[in-house]
Amino acid sequence: MKQRNVMPQKINIRGVYFDNVTKDEAFERVKELIRDDSKVSVMYTPNSEIVQCCIDDESMYGVINSADLIIPDGIGVVYASKILGTPLKQKVAGVETADLIAEYASKTGDGIFIFGGGKATSERPCVARLAADKLCEKYPGLVISGVRDGYFSDADNQSIADEINASGAKILFVCLGAPKQEKWIYDNRDKLKVSFAAGLGGSVDVFAGTVKRAPDFFVKTNLEWFYRLIKQPTRAGRMMNLPRFLFGTVIHKNRGHEG
Ligand code: UDP
Repeated sequence: MKQRNVMPQKINIRGVYFDNVTKDEAFERVKELIRDDSKVSVMYTPNSEIVQCCIDDESMYGVINSADLIIPDGIGVVYASKILGTPLKQKVAGVETADLIAEYASKTGDGIFIFGGGKATSERPCVARLAADKLCEKYPGLVISGVRDGYFSDADNQSIADEINASGAKILFVCLGAPKQEKWIYDNRDKLKVSFAAGLGGSVDVFAGTVKRAPDFFVKTNLEWFYRLIKQPTRAGRMMNLPRFLFGTVIHKNRGHEG
């Protein structure tokens, strides 16, 4: 029987066109994109920091909006959607979606390539290798086609794409932090043969166990950002983008803008 594609509704949040999906709907769409071998489909998981990045550097809109699926990985984006009067259904965490993808791939046999994260040290392999090992423990049968750390120069882009293609991976996790990973996927999409690529930031650290995700209490009460602030106070400067973004959104709305 022919699969019916579900095209989610788009919601404009300060110029970034988010898919208005629940976690389940996002995952259904991801599976459709993985199954479609005709092109490289892309998922980005922007939070308010990335939307603010687009507002500050308009060339980023083209990069972010080029994705086939854009999920709101941040409560700030969901608040902004309410302020603008076009509420998104819910926050959809990139790390949770990536975890579902790994579980799905362990059943279908689709190989995953993990690109990004810290280099190997004398004490441990690269973070992507640690993440791969942990995911294989969690999902027996999972095929990790390859891993590569995220520290390189632009001159390496072709050889990185060649390495990913030669691995036979169908799914690519790019974890270089934002907006580097989104730019890398955008610039190198034409070189790739995978069917699905996703920008997943610090997910590689969570999978590897080198960074802990906030306990459930913080996730459920939408205070994950607060937990990260306590655990990684060096992020405080970056996190000021959240109030800046929300305050800017209130002003934007009051000036009569719709999205
Ligand atoms: N990272 C990388 N290459 C870089 C910069 C960062 O591989 O040039 C990795 C970094 O080691 C970390 C991941 O990107 O594993 C996510 O970084 P960060 O927490 O800054 O990103 P976020 O998830 O907040 O966007």
